[in-house]
Amino acid sequence: MDKKVRVRYAPSPTGYLHIGGARSALFNYLFAKKYDGDFVIRIEDTDIERNIEGAEKSQIDDLEWLGIVADESPYKMNPKYAPYRQMEKLDLYRKYALELVEKGYAYYCYCNEDELSEMKEEQLSNGVKSFKYDRRCLNLTEEEIENYKKEGRKPCIRLKMESGVTFKFNDLVRGEVSFKSDDIGDFVIMKSNGIPTYNFAVVIDDHMMEITHCLRGEEHLSNTPKQLQIYKYFNWEPPQFGHMTIIINPNGKKLSKRDHNILQFMSQYKELGYLPEAIFNFLFLLGWTSEDNKEIFNKEEAIKAFDPSRLSSSPSMFDNKRLEYMNSYYIKNLSDESYKEKVYPFIKEFESASLTKDKLLEISLYFKNEITKLYDVKQMLNDLLNPTFEFDDEAKQMLSKESSSIVSSLFKEKLSKLEVIDEISIKALFKEILKETNIKGKDLYMPIRLKITGKNHGLEMYHIVEILGKDLVLSRL
Ligand code: GLU
Ligand code: ZN
Repeated sequence: MDKKVRVRYAPSPTGYLHIGGARSALFNYLFAKKYDGDFVIRIEDTDIERNIEGAEKSQIDDLEWLGIVADESPYKMNPKYAPYRQMEKLDLYRKYALELVEKGYAYYCYCNEDELSEMKEEQLSNGVKSFKYDRRCLNLTEEEIENYKKEGRKPCIRLKMESGVTFKFNDLVRGEVSFKSDDIGDFVIMKSNGIPTYNFAVVIDDHMMEITHCLRGEEHLSNTPKQLQIYKYFNWEPPQFGHMTIIINPNGKKLSKRDHNILQFMSQYKELGYLPEAIFNFLFLLGWTSEDNKEIFNKEEAIKAFDPSRLSSSPSMFDNKRLEYMNSYYIKNLSDESYKEKVYPFIKEFESASLTKDKLLEISLYFKNEITKLYDVKQMLNDLLNPTFEFDDEAKQMLSKESSSIVSSLFKEKLSKLEVIDEISIKALFKEILKETNIKGKDLYMPIRLKITGKNHGLEMYHIVEILGKDLVLSRL
C-alpha cells in the first residue's frame, strides 16, 4: 500500500449506536491502526426527516467508551477534509452533480411520485422482477421541460447508467464480486430539494476525504456498483471495499431491532455494567477468527492480530453466552480497586449509616467472581437486603423437617453470643452444631440459608451473615 490508509465509519444520526454499527466501526478502526492509518468519523445526515437529536454525539461518545477513538470527526476536524457532516456540504454535491449533467452522465428527471408508482406497477404487472426507471426524461425537448417548469415541478437528477458494462471488484471479505450495469436502473443522485442521496454523497466524500478502504455491512453490497459507476464517470479511483456478513441471532435469523432477547444498543450494555474491554473483545470475534482460536484480546493485541483476510465470509452468530463469559472474565481480572470504583455507582443506593461506603465496597468484592455484569451486584444485594420468602415445595419440605428447627434454634442461640462475625467464626459455629447434633451437609446449611435469604443458592453463608449483620439475621431466623 503506497497511499496512507484512511478508513471511515459513516453513521447516519438516525439512531443510537447499535451492535452492527459498533462492529463496522471497530473493524475500520482496527484496519486503520494495523496499517498506521487514520480512522475518520463522518456523519451522513442527509435523511433529514429521520435524524434524531443527540444521536450523533452519543454515537461518538459510545465509540470512545469502547476505546474506538477517531483521528478525525466533526469534533476533531482536519481542515483539509472538513466539513465532516454531509448537510454542511450541499453546494459541493451540487457542483459535482451539475458536472455530471454537463458531461451527459446524468440528467434532470421531472417525474412525480404518482408517475413513478404507476411506472413501477406497470413493470411489475408485466412480470419484471425489479423496477428500473424507464428513462422517459432522458431526452426531454425544450418544450417539455418548459411545460414541466410551468407546472411548478422541481426536477431531481438521475445518473445515467452505462449499458453493457460489468462492474467487478475485489471485495476484502468475499473476493471477486461482479454486477451488470444493465440490471441497475438510472438512480437519483440529487433529490429535488437539493439534498444528495446516499450513493452520491458517499462517493464524493470518500473521494474528497481520500478514503482508501471501506469496510461496511453486507446491506451495502448492491450499492457498490452504483458507486463504482460514479467513480468511473469522474475518473476517480475507488477505495477498496469489504462487505461484512450479517449478524444472526441463535435461531439463524438476521439480527433485527425487534429481537428482544438480544440487547442491541451500546447504551444498554453500558447501563448494565458491561465493561467496554469485554464488548470490544466480543465484537472483534463477531466476524473475525484468530488463526489459533484464541479468544481473549485486548485492544493492542487485537490491532496486532487483525488480518482482514480472516474476516469471516459466513454470518456471525450473536452468542449471548459468549458475551457474558467475556464480561465476567474481564470483571474477574479487574484489580479490586478498579472493580470497586466501577461497581460503586450500581450499589450506591444501599449506602446507609450501618452500611458505610467502605463496608459496602468491601462487601461488593464477594460478588466479583459470581457475576456476569456489574448490575448483578445491585440485584443480588437487593435480593439479600429486601428478600421475598416464597418457598417452593422442596424448600417447604426442608423447613418442615425436625432437624431444621434444631439447627435453626442452635444457630440463633450461638450467633447471638458471637462477638466477631467473619468467615472463621461462622464456619466454627456450623462445626459446633454439627458436632452437637450430627446434622450435616444440606440439612445443616440449607435451613439457615432459606430462612435468612429466602433462596436455596447464593453467596457463601459467612458472607451473607456478614453482609446482613447479626441483628437482621437473628430477626429473620
Ligand atoms: N451511512 C451509511 C450507513 O449508515 C454508511 C454506509 C457506508 O459505509 O458506505 O449505513
Ligand atoms: Zn423522469
